[in-house]
Amino acid sequence: MPLEFLKRRTRPEAVPPPVASAPLPEEVSAQEYQLRLYYQGKTSEGVRIQAGPQALNELPSMLVGLARSEIEVVEPLPIEFSEATPVISRPSEAMQWLNAHHVHSPITRHALVVLESIDAVDLAFDTFVCALLDGETDTSGYPEYNAIVGGVASHWDEATGDMIVRAVVGWGGKGVRGDTDRAAARLLAGLFTNILANQHSLGVARVERPVPAAGRGGLVCAHCGFASAHERAFYCPKCGMRLLRG
Ligand SMILES: [Zn+2]
Repeated sequence: MPLEFLKRRTRPEAVPPPVASAPLPEEVSAQEYQLRLYYQGKTSEGVRIQAGPQALNELPSMLVGLARSEIEVVEPLPIEFSEATPVISRPSEAMQWLNAHHVHSPITRHALVVLESIDAVDLAFDTFVCALLDGETDTSGYPEYNAIVGGVASHWDEATGDMIVRAVVGWGGKGVRGDTDRAAARLLAGLFTNILANQHSLGVARVERPVPAAGRGGLVCAHCGFASAHERAFYCPKCGMRLLRG
């Protein structure tokens, strides 16, 4: 009969095989594996810098005296990189991130991994100016876990069009040391002093950081052609000019 084998399957299980005399162990001896990654950062209050074509060019000078490597400028990412995330298990986001940042130095890439992971910098609207500030790099040029990286991050105040600049520092990796926090606080204060001392500084600004809206992205800048991923931006994240709405 064709269904004979099915019938056989539905029959109750046969008598279980006799249990071995040794009882099941209550605990399995396990090999433990663990990685503790530790990222930390600090940002200062924002300082209002008078809007103008000179504003962006002033940013690197705010690291002078504190930078211990070449100072690099990371511009806001256009819409085609709006998903960029430094998480390798998400290949599409990781690929965008690599395409956007492979040109930067190991120090800047490390800084972006740390500061983007803890949400201290958001390249949808931030311009980030970065250097090694304290500590050493390994033989490949990547900062050690207790090295401090950072600089300043700026965005355009949607109400006034002024540039808002804050000091940003970060550190971390496969280790943590107790005195790094104190060194980072000292560096943050140094950067903040430099920002306030800028000739175009208008003083501390109590402005919330913008929250980029998820969606189709914003307008294309008529001045520099930058396609913003920041849907509600009134000022071009890249050049700071007013975006023209149709
Ligand atoms: Zn622009």
